[in-house]
Amino acid sequence: MKIVIIGGGFAGLNLAKHLAGNQLIDITLVDKNNYHLFPPLLYQVSTAFIEASNISYPFRRMFQYKENLRFHLGKLKNIVASSNKVETSDGDLYYDCLILAMGTETNYFGLENIKKHALPMKTIDDAIHLRNHLLLNAEKAVRTNDPVEKVRLQNIVISGGGPTGVEVSGMLAEMIHSLINKDYPELKKNDANIYLISSGNALLGPMSPKSQAEAYKVLNSLGVQIKLNTAVKDYIDGDIHLSTGECIPAATLVWTSGVIARQVPGLPDVYAGRGKRIIVDEFNKVQGTQNIFAIGDQCLQTTDVDYPNGHPQLAQVAIQQGIQLASNLKRLQSGQALKAFKYKNKGSMAIISKYKAVVDLPNAFFKGLPAWFVWLFVHIIPIVGFGNKIKLACNWFCSLLTNDPALRLIIRPKK
Ligand SMILES: Cc1cc2nc3c(=O)[nH]c(=O)nc-3n(C[C@H](O)[C@H](O)[C@H](O)COP(=O)(O)OP(=O)(O)OC[C@H]3O[C@@H](n4cnc5c(N)ncnc54)[C@H](O)[C@@H]3O)c2cc1C
Repeated sequence: MKIVIIGGGFAGLNLAKHLAGNQLIDITLVDKNNYHLFPPLLYQVSTAFIEASNISYPFRRMFQYKENLRFHLGKLKNIVASSNKVETSDGDLYYDCLILAMGTETNYFGLENIKKHALPMKTIDDAIHLRNHLLLNAEKAVRTNDPVEKVRLQNIVISGGGPTGVEVSGMLAEMIHSLINKDYPELKKNDANIYLISSGNALLGPMSPKSQAEAYKVLNSLGVQIKLNTAVKDYIDGDIHLSTGECIPAATLVWTSGVIARQVPGLPDVYAGRGKRIIVDEFNKVQGTQNIFAIGDQCLQTTDVDYPNGHPQLAQVAIQQGIQLASNLKRLQSGQALKAFKYKNKGSMAIISKYKAVVDLPNAFFKGLPAWFVWLFVHIIPIVGFGNKIKLACNWFCSLLTNDPALRLIIRPKK
């Protein structure tokens, strides 16, 4: 059986790994990047805490010695379901079974100025771009003699009070405290601020009220200006306009307010549900098709009784769906009945600042340093590659010990 997987994120990679070694199956994994990425730590790249290579790993290196597993670098362009063909930016591929696992992209809700000027946080490019942007603005702020412009260049607005927005705010606050004092003594005393804007009435929306309260308390103590029940509406001439009528002059708007499933050209629109997610049945088969499946953030499955509105878009859901589909494809081959997907919630966590995190387990909550240790451990385990785990642990150890990470390089790849 020829299987083509589009997307090597948590879902696609776990599917491929659990089918590797099965000589009856021939797998091609297609990705627009030649590496697998661990998005939960992206903001640590943008805040100069860790290197991009600590959270990414080349597919071809991973697939060494896996005879039934090949990699194809390319971007999905179109699906021709009638002839079991996918067209990519780098050639066509034919399949017996197609799996869509392309995740999501940033949703700007049609706000064109924001799309043009805000900085998203979805890819390595985004993270490095934000790092460059912050460092370049600091350099400009040192040079300008205009006190108003000095503050505007250093003001940072983060839109989105979910885990990514909270984690970015906390780490930026930490970065700025240690950076300003050491690298930019010229900027020591000023009125610049970090603003966290959330349209919800609490931070960390999907987490417990205790985690929400702790996130608010810790960020507040770090000096982050939190505005709840407020939305970012526009970004004009360097001013960020809020739904309250307020306007913040800021050279940086980090956009973590929403995602939308990646579109699949060739798949009829009727297959898409809320957030443009592809509607699948209990086995992750795309509604109305025979041999196309979708897993991870890109799909919407409402058959799990505990999640009638679909699963949250989390790494664990994607991993579990990838593993389950691998086992179902093996069942399909041997003529056995398929098993319906059921998500096992193992809890959720977020880091708020250096040494402080919150952890919600199905029957427990903890915070502070113990939660931070759990967070570190849980985020090292799934990093691909033993070398990467060691490098990441060393990077963290040095950055935290010295309070002076040395990754503040302005690297501008040629456009
Ligand atoms: C900044 C950030 C922080 C996060 N923090 C957490 C967290 O702390 N905990 C948690 O559980 N979840 C977190 N998430 C969510 C989590 O990362 C996702 O739920 C998870 O990555 C979904 O896995 P996936 O395989 O469905 O998609 P992805 O991991 O997004 O993988 C999609 C893959 O498809 C590829 N692709 C995309 N388009 C194409 C195309 N046209 N052609 C070919 N290939 C393509 C991409 O390169 C990528 O490799 C975070 C996400 C982000 C962005």
